[in-house]
Amino acid sequence: MPRESDLPKIVAVNTDEGEPGTFKDREIVEQDPHQVIEGVLIAAYAIGASRAYVYIRGEFFLGVKRWIKAIADAYEAGFLGKDILGSGFNLDMSVHRGAGAYICGEETAMLESLEGKRGEPRQKPPYPASVGLFGLPTLVQNIETLACIPHIIQRGPSWFAGIGTAESKGPKIFSISGHVNRPGNYELPLGISLSDIIFGYAGGIPGGRHLKAVIPGGASTPFLRGDQVNVPMSFEGLAEAGSALGTGGIIVMDESTCIVEAVRRLSKFFAHESCGHCTPCRIGSWRIYEILERVEKGEGHSGDIDLLLDLVDGIDGHTYCPMGSALVNPVRSAIQHFRPEFEYHLTHKSCLVNGVK
Ligand code: SF4
Repeated sequence: MPRESDLPKIVAVNTDEGEPGTFKDREIVEQDPHQVIEGVLIAAYAIGASRAYVYIRGEFFLGVKRWIKAIADAYEAGFLGKDILGSGFNLDMSVHRGAGAYICGEETAMLESLEGKRGEPRQKPPYPASVGLFGLPTLVQNIETLACIPHIIQRGPSWFAGIGTAESKGPKIFSISGHVNRPGNYELPLGISLSDIIFGYAGGIPGGRHLKAVIPGGASTPFLRGDQVNVPMSFEGLAEAGSALGTGGIIVMDESTCIVEAVRRLSKFFAHESCGHCTPCRIGSWRIYEILERVEKGEGHSGDIDLLLDLVDGIDGHTYCPMGSALVNPVRSAIQHFRPEFEYHLTHKSCLVNGVK
């Protein structure tokens, strides 16, 4: 935060979790919003803010209720409001419910939405720390990060830094879903092997089927093949394997999964959630979806795989916000790892896994 600024400062709390395969924030706010409030109080005190806004995904009905109740409880206990515990420090906090747009999880689109406008990303710079909500210096943080702060203050930074790897420090909540026996949220050290999470904590694949593919960090991160799961779940480990840690939302697919169908469904999500601000994402996402749909149905054209890769290259790096790269990651990596499956759909007009479409 700019120390030289005399403007009032703001903390904006991001609970707009919309990434498919990720459900950690929902559980934090439903199970223990109090530790997030404590984190917000410490963060606000550190930057000199006296106002905090919580932005929460509109579909999180229970989460909204829990946020409102926890904030009311904190006011009643004297932890929020004026002259908190006689310290002279003031902090007011309130909840704003989103209307259900994935892009509002992006920090500047969230600020636009908080201001009552259509949720579209802003140009950066200026960054929110200098010009954020209502033009004021704003700290935007996700609730998983804020929930860590009381523990770091209580146990010390070296305790936190002692968990994880040299480059990826601390614990992380991994959401695991799909073809596993025990889906759910697991808080584990960064750097743990993906294989240990899938076959240990999540109980392996049902019915003894083989692991085919994994998306390791939420729907916008590249696919890994089933034989690549001996990878550390860290920023550097997943980057080396050609994917990314993202949100830590692990989606597991066994051998019964048609990869073309899986990517087609993901593409529809991104096309639907494009905010429409820039052409490569607004139009390109639907073109990708349409091509994948015809390939899946056995109605594809011979050049469709190359056309998809061409579209992907035309979108990646040519959009206003990172959603362009997010939407192409699953498509490009699926073709890279499972190209024969796409070719089978084109040449046999049917699915290698599930037969005729
Ligand atoms: Fe909106 Fe462009 Fe970002 Fe897509 S890439 S969400 S259209 S700003």
